[in-house]
Amino acid sequence: MIISTGTASGKSLAYLTPAVASCLDGGTVLYLAPTKALAADQLRGLRELRITQVRAACFDGDTPFEERTWVRQHANYVLTNPDMLHRSILPRHAQWSSFLRRLRMVVVDECHGYRGVFGSHVAQILRRLRRACARYNSRPTFLLASATASEPGAFAMRLTGLEMDEVTVDASPKGSTTIALWEPPLTELRGEGGAPVRRTATAEAADLLADLVLADVRTLAFIRSRRGAETVALSARAKLADVAFSISPPFPTPTPTTPHTPPAPLPTPANAPAAHAADHPTDSPLRQGHQAQQGQQDPIAPQSPLAWAIPDAPHHGSNLDSSDLADLPNKIAAYRAGYLAEDRRLLEKALRAGTIMGLATTNALELGVDVSGLDAVLIAGWPGTRASLWQQAGRAGRDGQDALAVLIARDDPLDTYLVHHPQALFGQPVEAIVLDPGNPYVLGPHLCAAAAEIPLTEDDLPIFGPTTSDVLEDLVAQNLLRKRPAGWFWTRRERATDLADIRGGGGAPIQVVESSTGRLLGSVDEPSAHTTVHTGAIYLHQGETFLVELLDLEAGVALVSSANPDYTTFARDITDISILATERSTALGSGTLHFGEVEVTRQVVSYLKRRLQSGEMLGDEPLDLPPRTLRTRAVWWTLPASAVTPLAEAGIDLGGAAHAAEHASIGLLPLFATCDRWDIGGVSTELHADTGLLTVFVYDGHEGGAGFAERGYARATDWLTATREAILSCECERGCPSCIQSPKCGNGNEPLHKRGAVRLLDTLLTPR
Ligand SMILES: [Zn+2]
Ligand SMILES: [Zn+2]
Repeated sequence: MIISTGTASGKSLAYLTPAVASCLDGGTVLYLAPTKALAADQLRGLRELRITQVRAACFDGDTPFEERTWVRQHANYVLTNPDMLHRSILPRHAQWSSFLRRLRMVVVDECHGYRGVFGSHVAQILRRLRRACARYNSRPTFLLASATASEPGAFAMRLTGLEMDEVTVDASPKGSTTIALWEPPLTELRGEGGAPVRRTATAEAADLLADLVLADVRTLAFIRSRRGAETVALSARAKLADVAFSISPPFPTPTPTTPHTPPAPLPTPANAPAAHAADHPTDSPLRQGHQAQQGQQDPIAPQSPLAWAIPDAPHHGSNLDSSDLADLPNKIAAYRAGYLAEDRRLLEKALRAGTIMGLATTNALELGVDVSGLDAVLIAGWPGTRASLWQQAGRAGRDGQDALAVLIARDDPLDTYLVHHPQALFGQPVEAIVLDPGNPYVLGPHLCAAAAEIPLTEDDLPIFGPTTSDVLEDLVAQNLLRKRPAGWFWTRRERATDLADIRGGGGAPIQVVESSTGRLLGSVDEPSAHTTVHTGAIYLHQGETFLVELLDLEAGVALVSSANPDYTTFARDITDISILATERSTALGSGTLHFGEVEVTRQVVSYLKRRLQSGEMLGDEPLDLPPRTLRTRAVWWTLPASAVTPLAEAGIDLGGAAHAAEHASIGLLPLFATCDRWDIGGVSTELHADTGLLTVFVYDGHEGGAGFAERGYARATDWLTATREAILSCECERGCPSCIQSPKCGNGNEPLHKRGAVRLLDTLLTPR
């Protein structure tokens, strides 16, 4: 069964009830969370129930060895994560036999996080779990909890391999939420190729946070990095300090205090300025309010830019007395992952009591902290999926009251597209969660692990999917498995589980180590290491910022140190691609769309430094890294000479047009394929050696592919239409980071032709 409903709809209660009943009945329960922090929070919640028959315990990397035996032998409610199941529980299933024999229920919480390559690994781990259970004659019920997703039953079936019922009706009481789509203005700053630079989403978030707190609106701001969250909190506090200074003394005439006025009633989306703000950025009340605020001496605008959303809000500061004023900046705080549980509880209390009114946080808060009682949520940058957007927006709205959520665009083609196309957000189903458990690069290592656990027999093949026999043959040919009359055996000395790097994409992982303490922060698979932990990179780990001092590929180590730089980095690569096999083709306008297997040679050649607050470009530093080859899947389109010659004759730079279309389409694919912009790459050329035509490729950045390019193939018309719209929506003249420039372009965003890209896409989207 999968329960797929919104934030705070009572999912936990829905699985806790049968789970606790199973324990009371003499059974055991296995609870899987994507992170240790979430499992720890769940454990606390369970213990607060004070049911003595439920012996709950966490079993993860932090569990001391002396406690592990107790957990195995006595706990009947074990909370763990897929990594621990993969590395520790399944390989030692014999030690867990009494637990597995009585296993009644497997709870897979926050399962929408199991997507892409990681999700495919988890799918295979769950199949291994089912096999281990069968060995001990148990057939547990799988109960999955997910944020809203489209076709949750189909996803759950791919994840577990089992038939699934779905629960999708959310009948919990909720007020309405007004959503504002907010596009920061272009500034005077100039970036690559003289392109205009937009004000950053974090700078806008700081202004809005201060405004909302002044209007007595309890607000949470979601910022991508911890450093960013701290900057937002600091700068919003500074604004409040200015306000306190400028209106004290004398005070404006006090008006009756109405503490914690909720932002209701709210305009309906139909007449809300927000719906028009994106279309008419110059005449929107939002923008005017904002400019007024920036432009005048008085730090407070006569009217908050969000005043339309809070019509009954008292005039700035008018409901504050002198002690409130002095304390005003302290009403805003930053929150990050890694806080102790006690600190989190204190913060939750302060928010509930109203001593803290504004909180800037990384999305660490999405897991593990219970913040109810919020009136507004600010989301700096598209969070990646509609599902996460609604999940974050769903944080606002206490006790069924109305609420406000603001999505602030970053300078990225997808963000640009979305703030100009509300219809892509509203009335749309949330994303399907994409995973591909049959990917041979994922399946292979898990078949080895499964064989090491219990030798594989013919009967096991259906569990692992239709490609199993082929993959097994390969594994035997590589001497990883041995075929004997009784089945397939793991006979090597190494641990089979080491073959699967479940959070990475394969390849020997690079260890990320803090140089001053030797602390291991985590590991990055080798292909990603070139782009994320190259020498000089700014590396984010659980919202904390580190500077990579040295990437030593031979030693497999990246040495990092805690840092507070005021810039971010983007690795830039150049790519070559060759077609190995075309699996599918279809006509697309005047061109042809293809899907198939490719070999990609990528080389990270430099990295771009950009200032955090302003987005200003600080330089492009060269790097010396070897090229890497990747066998993966790609979607590509070609246009015949008959279609492009007229364009060239009309003065369009075909190479620049294809390049611009490639960048923008990479930016937009995540809207259709639930991936990250960094999970995919592209190549464009006026004349490709394998096709002999103008060709644009978009490929999966993971060995073997992760299903993203395939999604692009299936949704090509919608995808390329959105790409075209994103380019057209941006008001810049010749291209900027909000439309066709890419921060990871190895060619320094040269050449690019904005108008040409639209023309090329037109030839693909106009039926022949
Ligand atoms: Zn632009
Ligand atoms: Zn490029």
